[in-house]
Amino acid sequence: MSILNFNTKKAKAEKGCTVIVGCGRLGANIADSLSEEGKDVIIIDSNSDSFRKLSPMFGGMKITGDATELLAFDDIDFKDVSSVIAVTNHDNTNIMVAQMAKEILHIDKVIARLYDPARECVYRELGIDTICPVILSTNEVDNLLFGGTDA
Ligand code: AMP
Repeated sequence: MSILNFNTKKAKAEKGCTVIVGCGRLGANIADSLSEEGKDVIIIDSNSDSFRKLSPMFGGMKITGDATELLAFDDIDFKDVSSVIAVTNHDNTNIMVAQMAKEILHIDKVIARLYDPARECVYRELGIDTICPVILSTNEVDNLLFGGTDA
């Protein structure tokens, strides 16, 4: 049985729609940015309070639901969804969502955040792009310390 609590009976995706899973600091920022660019966005979070992080100008659709539930995706019309971004605070959830998006829903572009850099190779084998804050931050620190100098 699904434990979903959808705001609408059936979420309608427009062509080229991006689905973001997890409306935390990162998810809300990505959603606001895409929405500001005029892109069609659906954002999912298991906690409806999380949607408060979105800008009042956010023009996309908000859905309250547990993304690990396959039915959550069944209730969304995925035929026009071109990308799924999994940015919950759990690596395992992001892996599961990304796998569902890639293998069951055949979404073109799938991106997942992972905290554990050691897992990156698992995603790569599955054809899933990753954002790893540890690696990005390490590279940026290295760049700030040593980049752009002649020394
Ligand atoms: P943050 O750590 O600030 O990026 O926030 C992560 C977000 O992911 C929070 O708003 C959580 O409520 C959300 N989240 C965690 N697990 C799930 C899940 N299984 N389904 C949907 N959203 C989730």
